[in-house]
Amino acid sequence: MDQIQVTRSSMPDIEEYTNEIRDLWDSHWLTNMGTKHMQFQSELESLLGVEHVALYCNGHLALENILEAIKLPAGGEIITSPFTFASTTHAIIRCGFKPVFCDIDPETYTIDVNKIEALITDRTVAVVPVHVYGNICDVEKIDEIAKKHNLKVIYDAAHAFAVTYKGKSSAVFGDASMFSFHATKVFNTIEGGAVCYHDDSLEQRLKDLKNFGIHSAEEVAYVGGNAKMNEFCAAMGICNLRHLDEEIKKRGAVVAKYRELLSGIKGIRLCREQEDVVPNYAYFPVVFDREEFGADRDEVFHKLEENGICARKYFYPITTAFDCYKGRFDPNDTPVALDISLRVLTLPLYADLALEDVERICNIILSLQRR
Ligand SMILES: *Cc1c(COP(=O)(O)O)cnc(C)c1O
Repeated sequence: MDQIQVTRSSMPDIEEYTNEIRDLWDSHWLTNMGTKHMQFQSELESLLGVEHVALYCNGHLALENILEAIKLPAGGEIITSPFTFASTTHAIIRCGFKPVFCDIDPETYTIDVNKIEALITDRTVAVVPVHVYGNICDVEKIDEIAKKHNLKVIYDAAHAFAVTYKGKSSAVFGDASMFSFHATKVFNTIEGGAVCYHDDSLEQRLKDLKNFGIHSAEEVAYVGGNAKMNEFCAAMGICNLRHLDEEIKKRGAVVAKYRELLSGIKGIRLCREQEDVVPNYAYFPVVFDREEFGADRDEVFHKLEENGICARKYFYPITTAFDCYKGRFDPNDTPVALDISLRVLTLPLYADLALEDVERICNIILSLQRR
């Protein structure tokens, strides 16, 4: 039996990609905001309905750059959640801020908006919520809290590309949103990322941060780094964007099959479909209750592994439990996040995952159910 990975990068036909990059052999212009970069950027601006998109070599540096560009008071506290990928917490710390961890909502796994205000101090400067698994945070409540306390809001929207809420794209909320176009995401540019933002004055600062602060051949005006998206990645983005709708539709069929087979099983909890949200079907998380189901997350993980199926403990561990943060944070401060991290498994999900394979995966899981 073939191995099934947790995800599989979507790729255009090789002819489509070679056609797209042919110009690069004529121009010999491989990076530094060339024609592919500019075209891809403007295609994203229209798709996402925002005025400003800045492209990056990856999502993580996009997040670091926007945290630096937005000019928050140095060393300030940023409220965020630990049920996320390493990038979110690392970016906050690498930029010199102090993360303050808020627990998550047990339904959506996004930041629990009812617990944010208790964490605000006179040193709080921003909130960095995560649209976990493509579930949209309570953006209205977050907006209200941010206005009341004069805080910036920067979304880690790495999972939420092309998701809409009440007809608006996920890119329009808060002061800025970061997207990741990593190979494993719904939409990829091999590696890549973007920041969507609304304040015009950020444009120059983001450019400076991602290209050494170089304004012209003889003028270097800012101490910036290098985080530009190259032409080959932009070309991949242009190609993959043409197939985005079809990709999401196919993922939707896979998710529908999972829901059909796993809904209503005692001890298995699936994410509820969010009201007013058009999803991108980025992940399919399943939370196990050992008592009710008869097996715990790790037993299911190993059983699938024995059958050549790679599921992912995502997110486990929560970032506050990382080795690199030992002694610095306490995972018990966010009991819901800690509990979910011990019980969640994301199942294989990609556009071309065969529905028969979904059935096989579900049968293996259900074989562990207590009779
Ligand atoms: C993928 C991801 C990132 C980082 O993106 P890269 O493009 O891999 O740098 C950040 N946050 C979350 C939640 C992610 O899933």
